[in-house]
Amino acid sequence: MKLRYKLWMAMTALILFMGGTFFAISHGYIGQLFRQYAKAAEAASAEQLARNIAAYYEQNGWYAVDQYIVYYLKENPEYTAGFNSLLLKDTQGHILVSVGKGGAAPRGQSDTSTVTIRVHGQEIGVLTVSNRILDGSPVEQNILSSMTAATVWGTILTSMVALLVGVWLMRLMTTPLQSLLVAMKRLQHGDLSVRVDVSSNDEFGEVAKTFNEMTDRLSRTEEARRHLVADVAHELRTPLTIMQGQLELIQQGVKPAEPATLLPIQDEVVRLARLVQDLHQLSLAEVGKLPLEKVSTDMVQLTQRVVANFEVEAEDRGIQLCYDAPAGPLIALVDPNRITQVLVNLVGNAVRYTPLGGTVMMTVERAAPGVKVTVSDTGPGIAEEHLPHIFDRFYRAESDRSRGSGGTGLGLAIAKEFVEAHGGRIEADSKLGEGTTFRVYLPGNSAAPSEKPPEGS
Ligand code: ATP
Ligand code: MG
Repeated sequence: MKLRYKLWMAMTALILFMGGTFFAISHGYIGQLFRQYAKAAEAASAEQLARNIAAYYEQNGWYAVDQYIVYYLKENPEYTAGFNSLLLKDTQGHILVSVGKGGAAPRGQSDTSTVTIRVHGQEIGVLTVSNRILDGSPVEQNILSSMTAATVWGTILTSMVALLVGVWLMRLMTTPLQSLLVAMKRLQHGDLSVRVDVSSNDEFGEVAKTFNEMTDRLSRTEEARRHLVADVAHELRTPLTIMQGQLELIQQGVKPAEPATLLPIQDEVVRLARLVQDLHQLSLAEVGKLPLEKVSTDMVQLTQRVVANFEVEAEDRGIQLCYDAPAGPLIALVDPNRITQVLVNLVGNAVRYTPLGGTVMMTVERAAPGVKVTVSDTGPGIAEEHLPHIFDRFYRAESDRSRGSGGTGLGLAIAKEFVEAHGGRIEADSKLGEGTTFRVYLPGNSAAPSEKPPEGS
């Protein structure tokens, strides 16, 4: 059953229940109040009559008291309106007067008022009056029926208002739900561009906002997945084409199958193997499954080894390679192999992209509570529009330049994942034409430096 109908039914049941309860309670309560009031009025008039009888007795004794009472009742019609019967007895219990309207006994007969009549404190008789105003009298009927009408009309009116408010509330609740439902169905059928247009500041607005954020993220992930597949296919195509061409030449006997001919094929195989390994490590790091052998590592030693690796290449390219570190050890809790890989890529990029006569500088310093490694160069820099993307997979700021140098655009993506897997962070600053600076922050450790030398140093 639709939510709208459920709400309708619940609302109607609630209104009927509330109306019924209100009617029953108010009807019973006002009826009871009315009876209390009538009883008090009856008692008051019985006492008034008793005082008059006492005054009469003082002057005449019981002589012709019956005529006096009949006269009194006639003279006070408001008193006799609800009057039913009257009984006057003397102290011996003899009935002096007994007046009754006759007919069927009224329902309120049991509500009688008995008053002792006294003259100067001396008891002279007992007066018992029964008044039918207490129940079923026209006055009571009138009052109760007008009250019933008022209650019924009140209930109908308030129910109608409640229903109108209910309809408005239902619309308020079901309309955003319906647009959410439509959007969810479209999403279920693969439409990732779907967005919900609910701008209210309530829980529905929150749900819609969360839904929109979720679809945003889903479409970004989907786009990234498509790009990744396209990028991987693209990266694989070039080495495969080269290898295929070379092998065909050998097969056709155009080129001999000797080491010199096989060398470019081997280069491409190495390139492919590296690409596959990079992708594997990246995907492991992205899902948080990268195995890390963290040990307390002296970052001064580690960075010295990285710089030493590039000395020859820097010299060949006519680049000045500088290094600055404190005298003592700087301990970080890292996997030395992974961090070496990060720094090799940073220094490698700097050396590779900096032109002849440029400078590449690496510094290591304490940055409480860890260690900070900076790699800066005086190279071409990275344009502002490229800078936010350089840590993306396969991103090359200037594809020709990096492809020519053999880069796949995975180095910085791997560096970022590795550093973050250690609980550290990496950031880049660059100015076009002036140079680039990468800063790596690694978590520190107070333990002694590790004896384990980093791999590949
Ligand atoms: P790989 O590292 O996978 O061999 P790559 O070096 O091209 O390939 P990244 O290390 O991820 O890939 O770098 C991404 C891009 O950022 C590079 O292609 C280059 O355009 C730019 N870049 C990185 N470092 C520098 C730098 N020091 N100076 C100028 N541009 C840089
Ligand atoms: Mg690189």
